[in-house]
Amino acid sequence: MRFQVDCPHCDAMLSVPEKYHYTTIKCPECGGQMEAVSTETMRVTRQFIEELEDADAEVSEGSPGVTTLRRVAALQGAAEDDE
Ligand SMILES: [Zn+2]
Repeated sequence: MRFQVDCPHCDAMLSVPEKYHYTTIKCPECGGQMEAVSTETMRVTRQFIEELEDADAEVSEGSPGVTTLRRVAALQGAAEDDE
């Protein structure tokens, strides 16, 4: 199984083997490092974070994955500034 990752540095769409999910990978196009999180996971995650922020919910930084997901979402957000 492979999943799609959108490179936050150069916007390349990468096909990444499942075993690399949530690891740091290097983009073959631009050499930039990124967290390998599938675009589908990213979409759901961003929606989830937005909903939490809308609800003024406390997001525990100690929760598994939260720091990583926020960092990734921030990277993705930065990459999509021109939209
Ligand atoms: Zn890249």
